[in-house]
Amino acid sequence: MSSFSLPSRRSFLVGATVAVPALLVHGRALAASDPFTQGVASGDPAPDGFVIWTRIAPDILAADGLGGAPDNLPVRWEVATDEHFRTIVRHGDAVARHAMGAAVHVEVGGLRPDRPYWYRFVTQGVSSETGRAWTTPAPGAATSAVRFTAATCSHWEWGYFSAYRHMAREEDSRFTLFLGDYIYESAGRPVAPETGRVRSYGELPEADSLANYRRRYALHHSDPDLRALHAAAPAIAIWDDHEVQDDYSGIWSKGLQFASARFVQRRAMAYRAFVENMPLRLSQVMRGAEYRINRRMQWGTLAQFDMLDGRQFRSPPACSDGPDGGKGHMAAIDCPDLADPSRTFLGFEQERWLYDGWNRSRARWNLLVQNLLIAPMVFDTPKGPVVWTDSWNGFGAARQRLIDTMQASGIANPVTLAGDYHSFWCNDLYRDFGKGGQRPVAAEFVVSSVTSSGPPESFYKAAMPANPHIRYFDSTHRGYMRFDLNRDRLAARCMAISDRADRHATVRVLHDAVVEAGRPGLAT
Ligand code: FE
Ligand code: CA
Repeated sequence: MSSFSLPSRRSFLVGATVAVPALLVHGRALAASDPFTQGVASGDPAPDGFVIWTRIAPDILAADGLGGAPDNLPVRWEVATDEHFRTIVRHGDAVARHAMGAAVHVEVGGLRPDRPYWYRFVTQGVSSETGRAWTTPAPGAATSAVRFTAATCSHWEWGYFSAYRHMAREEDSRFTLFLGDYIYESAGRPVAPETGRVRSYGELPEADSLANYRRRYALHHSDPDLRALHAAAPAIAIWDDHEVQDDYSGIWSKGLQFASARFVQRRAMAYRAFVENMPLRLSQVMRGAEYRINRRMQWGTLAQFDMLDGRQFRSPPACSDGPDGGKGHMAAIDCPDLADPSRTFLGFEQERWLYDGWNRSRARWNLLVQNLLIAPMVFDTPKGPVVWTDSWNGFGAARQRLIDTMQASGIANPVTLAGDYHSFWCNDLYRDFGKGGQRPVAAEFVVSSVTSSGPPESFYKAAMPANPHIRYFDSTHRGYMRFDLNRDRLAARCMAISDRADRHATVRVLHDAVVEAGRPGLAT
């Protein structure tokens, strides 16, 4: 099941009318029409369990976005303590409903903390591939170390997902953070000139309906490298803009072509497809017609992870005079919006939730898992200094609240993660940027893209002397980051793939950075 091609129209017609033969060889499916084209995934681990996910889609790109399976298909699931399923400890029956895009989410509980499990699904006599998941340590357990990886920005047309393949091979990685731009909604746009279009969306139009958002995830989940990564470790996913639309902010779309009411409808369909296609705890994420993806994970006493939603509750883009808000853009640093305390990046409710969590945290490390660059990045231009507004740079007062509260709460060893920028960054975060003689409050790591093209390296490098808190920057490499956390230090490693246009790209260490416990900011 690790390699296959997209089915033709003809095989869809055959697959839709012929019963799937019940043949199992060494636990792998032998079927004329494979129901498990989307692989399996686990996610949001807890001390007693995790979510397991699959989606039944014999016809991957079916025009209605439903994958070509009948509605209400029964799907059996099994969780075992060994990869050969000799000891099955939990099992049950789920149903793949069209109302959920033919996805199956099972919130598995009753498991033991801090150990691996294996899981699989069976429908119509066909077994899925086997996935591996881990539970988190018991609450209060004095866990000594954890390894995890993080990725962002996987544009299908711009390359192969070799970064995902190499992440899947990271030994003992206990979970994968997806920081956003897991899909891109657009189609038929110009592609990176240096690579050309590596692969195509084919018949898929721009995603702006529920069916077409679903088809976009379906295409991604047919990718063998992404399937391998999901099968290897639990996912913890947040969204950024391209799960909906480029640079949208709250209920404000980027362009003038969408009235807000119409954009909010589009956004709801996009959120729905995300929730269907990610291994999320639906009991927590779906609140009636609303979606809440901010959540918290404790890793014993070692670390608290706060996952944020940096899009849904935002104020409009800063310093924009378009009636619909406009998209991210360069704005003068003295534009009044940047200092306006009534503007919010997280929404005030989510800010309170975060700050309450920090005030109660007794973890040795506190990691903020979110979408956009926090550190100031100022460009000197002939017209004066400017900032890019589709980052925390467009929300200066909200950023100040975040950093002030981070320090005032007294949380131990804060570290923030971001994606979105298609480049690696290792930064120090200060309470008063530009004022000398201070100690940093936190370290920030920005993860480069799986495939998406980076911003112009020379333009950014030229701006770095004016931004000395940015200690490392590279926009020429695609890849991911690996983190090794123990009680004394966080070792952060930027991993670069050799060539996004090469299906068999290799990987190498691009840069190492360290944060030492008790000493905020980057040690190296
Ligand atoms: Fe991106
Ligand atoms: Ca983005």
